[in-house]
Amino acid sequence: MRHNQGVRVEKGYRRRASQGGVILFMVLMAAFLPFTAYGQPRTVRVGVYQNEPKIFMDKNSNASGIFIELLNEIAAQEGWTLVYVRCDWAGCLQALEEGKIDLMPDVAYSEERDGLYDFHQTPVIESWSRVYSSSSTPITKISDLNGKRIAVLRGSIQQAVFEQLMQGFGYEVTIVPADSFEKVFALAAEGSADAAISNHLFGDYSHEKFGLLKTTFDFNPVALYFATANGRNHDLLEAIDRNLNNWIPESSSTYYTTLGKWAGKETNYRVPQYIFWIIGGIISLLVIAAGIIFLLRQQVKVRTQHLEQANAGLQESQQRYQTLARISPVGIFQTDIKGTTTYVNPKWCAISGLTVAQALGDGWLEAVHPDDRERLSKGWHESAQHGQASYSDYRFVRPDGTLAWVMGQAVPEMSPDGQIIGYVGTITDITERKQAEEKISKLNAELELRVQERTLQLEVANKDLESFSYSVSHDLRAPLRAVSGFAEIIARRHRASLNEEGQHYMDNIVQASERMGHLIDDLLKYARLGRSSVRQEPVSLASLMHEISKNMQPRLNEIHGTLNIAEDLPSVMGDLTLLRQIFNNLLENAVKYHKADYPPNVTVACQTEGRYIVVSVADTGIGIPTEYQEKIFNIFQRLHSEDEYPGTGIGLATVKKSVELLGGRVWVESKTGEGSKFSVKLTRAV
Ligand code: ADP
Repeated sequence: MRHNQGVRVEKGYRRRASQGGVILFMVLMAAFLPFTAYGQPRTVRVGVYQNEPKIFMDKNSNASGIFIELLNEIAAQEGWTLVYVRCDWAGCLQALEEGKIDLMPDVAYSEERDGLYDFHQTPVIESWSRVYSSSSTPITKISDLNGKRIAVLRGSIQQAVFEQLMQGFGYEVTIVPADSFEKVFALAAEGSADAAISNHLFGDYSHEKFGLLKTTFDFNPVALYFATANGRNHDLLEAIDRNLNNWIPESSSTYYTTLGKWAGKETNYRVPQYIFWIIGGIISLLVIAAGIIFLLRQQVKVRTQHLEQANAGLQESQQRYQTLARISPVGIFQTDIKGTTTYVNPKWCAISGLTVAQALGDGWLEAVHPDDRERLSKGWHESAQHGQASYSDYRFVRPDGTLAWVMGQAVPEMSPDGQIIGYVGTITDITERKQAEEKISKLNAELELRVQERTLQLEVANKDLESFSYSVSHDLRAPLRAVSGFAEIIARRHRASLNEEGQHYMDNIVQASERMGHLIDDLLKYARLGRSSVRQEPVSLASLMHEISKNMQPRLNEIHGTLNIAEDLPSVMGDLTLLRQIFNNLLENAVKYHKADYPPNVTVACQTEGRYIVVSVADTGIGIPTEYQEKIFNIFQRLHSEDEYPGTGIGLATVKKSVELLGGRVWVESKTGEGSKFSVKLTRAV
């Protein structure tokens, strides 16, 4: 039956309803009392287990203890015959359920038990659990319990409550269960447990015997009752309540004498009700607090795990960064936001020749070459001011006086929220490269000087040669004209007076003087180039080509050659005399250098390239070997003997010089045995 208000009312009602009847009955029966007691004997079977001093069998197998003595008094009052049945705690409860015993003393009320047993209303005594420690492991505060081995009564309410409390505090304890309080205390006494838990009645009564210390850690206050099986023996419960209610208000009653006897100094085992509620309240608060602490601890644990993981990751990346910085083939440095150096790696020191201590702050700047210092310092501080990356080549003067060229660069280092927190940079040793560059630039400079000198010498020599050629040609021209003129007259008018040999010599003189005349004419033309000013006026290429082709026609007819001139030839800017010389020479060569058994086929075409025009003269002649395609523009450069192809080797040199005087360019594309194409790039007349 549930030990609640409803039940109490029902019981109270039952008692009140029968109260008048009971008095009458008692008066009537008083005279027959002996008869009644013996006539209706009430045998009550009572379970006894070992829980000194509350209830136990002594050495002589006599039931003893607080509950037994009180029950004996009640039985005497009620006329019951008590039969004590020895059992262990669990066995006793089972016997009660099975009806093998009628009454079980020392049962703590709980919701669960309320469903199994019936309880009377007035508690016999209140009890609470207490921790008793072994003398070698004193427990003075609750945290001392953490990590300890605690002996408890197996399956007891105090075990469940204690475990819950420890879990709430986040403590880890090892529970060492035993089947009786005697064994529980024995475990702590022999060192198999660091502390033992029992109700305070047993503990306070027995701890000295086991050499254990009483601690201040009390918990789980409970009220203790007699219990009957569900729905049975209510008369026993009512009688117990009645007797207790009679005793408790009387300080000299059996109740207090019994308790005093078993508890020594502690005569009053009844805790005032308000203490009970306060302790209960405190315990509840402790349990709630323990729950909150447990949750908080869980959260802290999870966060700690996250932090530990993040920390491990950070340490790993720091380690990696440090290793990289240590083995890096370039110097690494770090600065604060103002650009003051806070870190340099070993390679940095090796390159600069400075120690870490010398490098830190602005110390490194002292080692920079005086010629580079101001530029570098200015550039660096400007970049730092504007939060920009900086790049610079500069020199360190090492303590031993040697120079180290470095390529330095630094970039801002950002915090996760995008703020500049400093700079990270590298220096790369480029001394060897700089030295090589210096050597090369010297050598260039030297070569350039030599080329200039040689060019100057050549120009002077050229000028000399040109003036010499000019004066020689000029001086030779008149006598040569006389020689060739007279030779022609003799050969023509007086031919009949000469014998055959004389005629042959005279023909040779005429031919040689003609060739000499051509040579001198060509030389004079070449030497004159650039002496007079060059005109820049529109010249019709169509008209020019027409004129030249007309002059060449007899020769072409003679050798069955053809000359095709494009119809759309435009006008170009230039000097007619020079242009005539250019295209005359190119067309003459194109006709002259034809293959022996193949008459010349010459084409003049043009192609516009923006404001320029490229005029080409292509033939189907003998072609020019690749290695000579540039050289043939040099004066006197010839590829054939005079007998094969007569010439002076001045024509193409004259073409080149004339084209360049007009601001143009000339080149040749050719393949031996297939033909040549000479191209001249000139400016178009608008
Ligand atoms: P040359 O008076 O010998 O023709 P040039 O200066 O005009 O002198 O030409 C130089 C040399 O270039 C020639 O001797 C010849 O070997 C070669 N040459 C010039 N034009 C042609 C061409 N159209 N085809 C093949 N070879 C040529």
